[in-house]
Amino acid sequence: MEGPKEACGLFGVWAPGEDVARLTYFGLFALQHRGQESAGIAVSDGEHLLVFKELGLVSQVFDEATLATMQGDLGIGHVRYSTTGSTTWENAQPAFKTDGQRSLALGHNGNLVNTLELAERAGRTGRATTDSDLVATLLAARLDGGLGAACLEVLPTLRGAFSLVMMDERSLFAARDPLGLRPLSIGRLPSGFVVASETCALDIVGASFVRDVEPGELVRIDDRGVHAERYAESPRRALCVFEYVYLARPDSVLRGHTVHEVRRELGRRLAREAPAEADLVVPVPDTGTSAAAGYSEVSGIPYGEGLIKNRYVGRTFIQPSQWLRERGVKLKLNPIPETIRGRRLVVIDDSIVRGTTTRQIVQALREAGAAEVHVRITCPPIRWPCFYGIDMSTRAELVASDLSVEEVRQYVGADSLGYLSLEGMIAATGSPKGELCRACFDGEYPIEIPEHAGKFLLEHPAKS
Ligand code: SF4
Repeated sequence: MEGPKEACGLFGVWAPGEDVARLTYFGLFALQHRGQESAGIAVSDGEHLLVFKELGLVSQVFDEATLATMQGDLGIGHVRYSTTGSTTWENAQPAFKTDGQRSLALGHNGNLVNTLELAERAGRTGRATTDSDLVATLLAARLDGGLGAACLEVLPTLRGAFSLVMMDERSLFAARDPLGLRPLSIGRLPSGFVVASETCALDIVGASFVRDVEPGELVRIDDRGVHAERYAESPRRALCVFEYVYLARPDSVLRGHTVHEVRRELGRRLAREAPAEADLVVPVPDTGTSAAAGYSEVSGIPYGEGLIKNRYVGRTFIQPSQWLRERGVKLKLNPIPETIRGRRLVVIDDSIVRGTTTRQIVQALREAGAAEVHVRITCPPIRWPCFYGIDMSTRAELVASDLSVEEVRQYVGADSLGYLSLEGMIAATGSPKGELCRACFDGEYPIEIPEHAGKFLLEHPAKS
């Protein structure tokens, strides 16, 4: 795993009579991979909204005592990785706003590209700390007719990637941007409904999948039932292809395909497109695991676990010392010398962003005795920044932006390096090219880039 940071995870539940805070806690727990900097839950008992959020992992932020105080019929939750704004308590979500009479809470996954324009409309000078807070402010100024009416007014003015879960005192709302860049699914409980960024969070609370929130759709769930309406036309779709490659959990289902199965197919195609003479196929856990199985299946080279992941490293507030940081990758991945000594390895990883992690992995495998290290990547070179919520925001930080494949190979120190083609990656998802965002690979942005991005973000950088 090379290190693009996930954007955010969303969960929402409307289930009167249930322990909605606890359901939200477990939903967030299943979505922890999407954001590890902060976690928050908002609940309402029909009269009052209560929000609790803090920096840290879900299990660090919430305990029994806190959850016990959060009683209500509906709730939303959020786990965050900051792609805009800094990691502070104020920027943790759900965002909470009130006009004195009515209140709202909001969780956002994605990144808006017209924040300057929105900030002006909201009467803010300069940029808001987060675009999510800005949306909440715009909605709070229009609560007279209720949150649903405010959404119908505000959502059409947003440009960029947004999946949203929102609530007022009585209703749960879910919405997706007109391109559907980030996922959002609806599930049914015996006593209500849930919405979640990924279906793995439906599974954990025992909800059955109903359908995805459609791009350009606003869904309201309350004691009047489920009400869906379009706030914008959605002439084309652009689900982030990187959800399949790296972001989503393998047990989640995106557009009818289990992510694990898509990754296995990525590996099969990679074996055909970029074969290697080797003794063992070694995944970089966890995202490389399904693809390595597919690579092994097609190549006939045995699969072996040569790298073990320390699952509980996560983000910690205890920073490692410099001495430890230099050995950073071993905090997360440790090679097994007995498995790899003297062998020629094909190492399967999901992506190369900055290149430093891949370089450390290659070095660690060599130190553990690998005879050869052939790196194979289940997507094409990432050459363009992402403006839609993934932390790859300048070309300068992308190793492949101005280096050839051979130069990247030299940089990471591998004996050979092979990437899957754009066509191969798209075919493995089962979705047509025109229905996926793949801008970080081919530079074709489905929405205009942000006005504040500036030319320097896209121009050819000088690599240090
Ligand atoms: S630019 Fe890449 S990471 Fe960003 S939304 Fe598009 S496909 Fe996903």
